[in-house]
Amino acid sequence: MAKVVKFGGSSLASAEQFKKVGDIIKADSERRYVVPSAPGKRSPRDTKVTDMLYNLYGSVSDDRSFAKVLADIRARYDEIIKGLGLKLDLSKEFDKIAADLKAGADSDYAASRGEFLNGHIMAAYLGFEFIDPAEYIIFDKKTENYDPEKTYKNLSKKLEKTPNAVIPGFYGAYADGTVKTFSRGGSDITGSIVARAIHADVYENWTDVSGFLIADPRIIDNPAKIETITYRELRELAYMGAGVLHEDAIFPVRQEGIPINIRNTNDPKDEGTWIVETTSKKSKYVITGIAGKKGFCAVNVDKDMMNSEIGFGRRVLQAFEENNISFEHLPSGIDTMTVFVHQDEFRDKEQSVVSAIRRMTDPDVIDIESDLALIAVVGRGMKSTRGTAGRIFSALAHAHVNVKMIDQGSSEINIIIGVANSDFETAIKAIYDIFVETKL
Ligand code: ASP
Repeated sequence: MAKVVKFGGSSLASAEQFKKVGDIIKADSERRYVVPSAPGKRSPRDTKVTDMLYNLYGSVSDDRSFAKVLADIRARYDEIIKGLGLKLDLSKEFDKIAADLKAGADSDYAASRGEFLNGHIMAAYLGFEFIDPAEYIIFDKKTENYDPEKTYKNLSKKLEKTPNAVIPGFYGAYADGTVKTFSRGGSDITGSIVARAIHADVYENWTDVSGFLIADPRIIDNPAKIETITYRELRELAYMGAGVLHEDAIFPVRQEGIPINIRNTNDPKDEGTWIVETTSKKSKYVITGIAGKKGFCAVNVDKDMMNSEIGFGRRVLQAFEENNISFEHLPSGIDTMTVFVHQDEFRDKEQSVVSAIRRMTDPDVIDIESDLALIAVVGRGMKSTRGTAGRIFSALAHAHVNVKMIDQGSSEINIIIGVANSDFETAIKAIYDIFVETKL
């Protein structure tokens, strides 16, 4: 049995947090592979080391501020080393980082050093082997993403022979050794890759919250926690965007059916949230989660007999494609088709999209409605429960929310609702109350 444990920046921001992490790892001998982030914020007004490193890169041509930022970063690590009582000297590593940046190393290299240095501390603290992902997580020049084939082959081989290891998160390297990072928050992806490489039983992702909540706590006071969610439900709730888990982290483990367990370093007894491929566990409520986002435009295209015109939909979408705009949602009727797009992407290209639709489809009417919000109500329990959509409708009517659009996905695990931006919070509250507060 082997578990991969990834710890986020807030779990490793200070010696005190490091000690909690050490206790968690020592409490279970199956926690054999550790993926650390860089030190995060110690308090709300503090700066993440990753941001300090981007700053260091930005000041490379100004000797004085470069030296100052470097010293500040060094102080963060020295504080942790001292607090842990370790005899570890990172002078050589810091000298090399300074020399590499002065010699022209790029911002990915700079940012990756946060995890690299924290990995050294973690390995020394736990007595585990340090494995540099630059040698094992191989990026492809063309896709600018990691190359799964090369990465898994390399990494599996190495880890098979290594009973315990620390593998810093967030970066790998191209075949020529140039360091490349994932996007921000990407240590989650590293954890997922390591879990897949060793066919882990569980990928534990330790952070500073006890898992996913049914709804955004900025909108709902003290929302209930999600105990178990399927990968599919989580994808449908992608707007959740609560920053708990990087969106791309689910793909490597999902393919292997490895569950992710989101856990709280500051409350290790809490079971957290389980993200699984499939489960027989019913969720406590009909819905698993509600999430949404403001700032959409609906482009509505009407044409009589549209339903029998072959290629109509493709041509409408082509107008968006030609303008490099992705669509979010696509409800349609017999003679009408609506394309939901992100308002900020669409605004500048609006007229060019409209004229392309006119040219390609000769519609009767095109109209645009802006300042809309989309809300996804997701739950595997909805499939076997009658009247879910009806309940949503009546809750929204009671709350005086005008529903612009409602669409049930064919998988029957999600319902998407379009409302005005100004009704967004009221709508989420109304839906939460009807399903969770009244426990229906
Ligand atoms: N340290 C990186 C960031 O701040 C990556 C991570 O924490 O996952 O984005």
